[in-house]
Amino acid sequence: MTPPKPSLTVFCGSRHGQDPAHIDDAAALGRWIGEQSWHLVYGGGNVGLMGEIARAALQAGAEVTGIIPESLMKREVGLDGLSRLEVVSDMAVRKQALIELADAFVVLPGGLGTLDEFFEVATLLQLDYHRKPILLLNRDGFWDPLIALVQRQVHAGFVSQKELDAWHVLANLEALQARCLALLGPKTS
Ligand code: AMP
Repeated sequence: MTPPKPSLTVFCGSRHGQDPAHIDDAAALGRWIGEQSWHLVYGGGNVGLMGEIARAALQAGAEVTGIIPESLMKREVGLDGLSRLEVVSDMAVRKQALIELADAFVVLPGGLGTLDEFFEVATLLQLDYHRKPILLLNRDGFWDPLIALVQRQVHAGFVSQKELDAWHVLANLEALQARCLALLGPKTS
């Protein structure tokens, strides 16, 4: 029996941001998920980096599941042609579904919503509600200020070093893909 394909839930900006490298990374990650025949789970929209990764993944033949609240169908433009688009009642249900469907979480650059989603999975990991890996794409140190803040919280005794070390912070897409394969890919032994 073939094992189920790994599902990556990706959190990223509903805007494109200013650095084209972030757009390239989102599209390249989408293509790579398709090449691996993995499953992309994301917020269901067709805007910003979310749209970039989803369209690239679909084009590369990935199974793509979007989860979007009814109220955001207009604002985030629910993407047509997804393998599955689940329209849910509210943001909390969306977040829950994004978490349940994941084997691992990937955090690309984004805004407040991305931060919210990241903190949700990070705090649930700290509380042992799940054991799914969290990977941050830290191209050009995008997430360094976040890591520095949490490092400060570690020094101040509010967060344990173990909780900070649990996150996989990767400097570029190649490193992130390699870590995904190491964590979720076919066993080599
Ligand atoms: P952003 O990073 O703000 O561009 O948003 C990325 C994704 O996070 C979008 O799909 C937003 O709908 C979602 N989002 C925005 N605010 C929240 C929130 N408070 N809780 C959960 N998700 C959010």
